[in-house]
Amino acid sequence: MASVDAARAVEGLEELRRRTGDEDGAQRVAWTDTWITAREWLRSELDTIDGVTVETDEAGNTWATAPGESDEFVIVGGHLDSVPSGGWLDGTLNVVAGLEILRALAPEPRRLTLKLVDWADEEGARFGRSLLGSSAAAGSLEPDSVRGLTDRDGTALPDALAAHGVDLDRALDARARLDGALAYLELHVEQGPVLEQKDIPLGVVLGTFGVQRHRIRFTGAHAHAGATPMHLRRDAFLAAARSALAFREDAAARDDVRATTGTVKVSPSIVTAFNGICELSLDQRALDAGVLAEMLAAAKEASRRIAAEEGCEVEWERLWEIEPIPFDAGLIDLADEVVEELAGTSLRLPSGPLHDAAEMARVLPTVMLFVKSLGGVSHTKDEDTPVEDIELSVRALHELTRRTLDRAQ
Ligand SMILES: [Zn+2]
Repeated sequence: MASVDAARAVEGLEELRRRTGDEDGAQRVAWTDTWITAREWLRSELDTIDGVTVETDEAGNTWATAPGESDEFVIVGGHLDSVPSGGWLDGTLNVVAGLEILRALAPEPRRLTLKLVDWADEEGARFGRSLLGSSAAAGSLEPDSVRGLTDRDGTALPDALAAHGVDLDRALDARARLDGALAYLELHVEQGPVLEQKDIPLGVVLGTFGVQRHRIRFTGAHAHAGATPMHLRRDAFLAAARSALAFREDAAARDDVRATTGTVKVSPSIVTAFNGICELSLDQRALDAGVLAEMLAAAKEASRRIAAEEGCEVEWERLWEIEPIPFDAGLIDLADEVVEELAGTSLRLPSGPLHDAAEMARVLPTVMLFVKSLGGVSHTKDEDTPVEDIELSVRALHELTRRTLDRAQ
């Protein structure tokens, strides 16, 4: 049985870095020439594998197929596109790992077909809409919601797609590509500090966080810093600040959730008055929908109690929400078994960022592997992972792919 050439995957990643990066990092922004350079390199590599066919779907996703006896298939997926001045591993790791896995498995007789997909425009770096290609394949993309998007130079999204042979009005036809799909596997750099902190190279992702994002407006009454005694103040900033601490305390008391106050605006914001108005943002994340709902209820309750104590009023306005997207329990167990065997230890963890896997999990049994990110940094040229861990992650994805193909027979 052929094993995967993990060192060759590292060489492939370095080759892509040479061809599509500069001193500021990776420059493979989707729907640009540098992205096409990366995709042409992938295609030239795929062309060297006997029996593998390559096609592009209606949403611009590239599919490579190593046929088995059956049309039913397992997918390994990633994305070659990057943010401007991005990291060398974000997205490319799973595409290049998938390439080497195809190379290893294509010659072996198999009942199931194996596919590698390079999703178009995961990052949304040019037009602000992430997961474009995978959401089209999953059927969750609403073309009208992206039709009006433009890039910094005023180019409209539909025009940029058309220049790359993609008709936005036909993008949802890419759904047909998933007919017969049995499972979706994705390897990604963690992009956070958890694995490194625990000194564990590989982890298994439980799903992507649900998000509740709100604007919270505290209203008191501003007045002179010298003239107003402390007990007569209705200081909206202090009501907001105490609330922000309460949000943090609530999140810190729970397992694996987040609560972040990212923006603070005060009015009148002068040195000689306390503030009558303070607006906060609150971004709450959890993997369990019930826990997320509890966190939101607790935060509202705390803000109302504190506002009342400070003589203020509080209003909540939802900015955005997305439900948690859990991955497949059976595939999580299988991935955990593989990681334990290859790395000696494993960790199950949620994903903070969204990934193409979240779109696939809506329609297919899905799981992801995370490999350690040094310093927890990503979306910068400093993104890195030790070579031995990259190689280990490629071997783990290969083994997970083999077992998924066997199990789904
Ligand atoms: Zn990515």
